[in-house]
Amino acid sequence: MDNRLYSPWRLRYVLSKKSEECIFCIKPKAENDEKHLILHRSKHSFVIMNTFPYNNGHLMVVPNRHLAVLSALNKQELSDLFELVQLTEKILNIVYSPDGINIGINLGRAAGAGIDQHLHVHLVPRWNGDVNFLSSLSGTRVIPESFERAYRRLKEEFDKAEEEK
Ligand SMILES: [Zn+2]
Repeated sequence: MDNRLYSPWRLRYVLSKKSEECIFCIKPKAENDEKHLILHRSKHSFVIMNTFPYNNGHLMVVPNRHLAVLSALNKQELSDLFELVQLTEKILNIVYSPDGINIGINLGRAAGAGIDQHLHVHLVPRWNGDVNFLSSLSGTRVIPESFERAYRRLKEEFDKAEEEK
């Protein structure tokens, strides 16, 4: 884990950043989903690849609105978000055939959120014998698959799922 995240001056710096700098707000508005690794959009949420993945296929499901906590979402947004988590789970199983998947939300910096002002759900495929989740934070992990290739494989399945709707 990056120790700077726990330094008080670093925290103040992060908290002082304005919300318009939020990548989860900027990227979907850029209208270039491939460049920003956005795989799929639902009515109130979208799926984006993590550019600092803990494992191959590390995706995030994000509500469109800039909200920090689950309790701020309305019912429609909440069900839309978790329907998209459900779809993403399905797609990860098709594309990667993992042995398991970590699904989780870090609320607040103390809980490990890198971006703590805009809620996001992590999905991390896991394989028997892969590095354990916490040691994977040390930065020694190997990510053999290119983003480009991963994007293509995942996008194809999301598109297929959209057609089957
Ligand atoms: Zn945001």
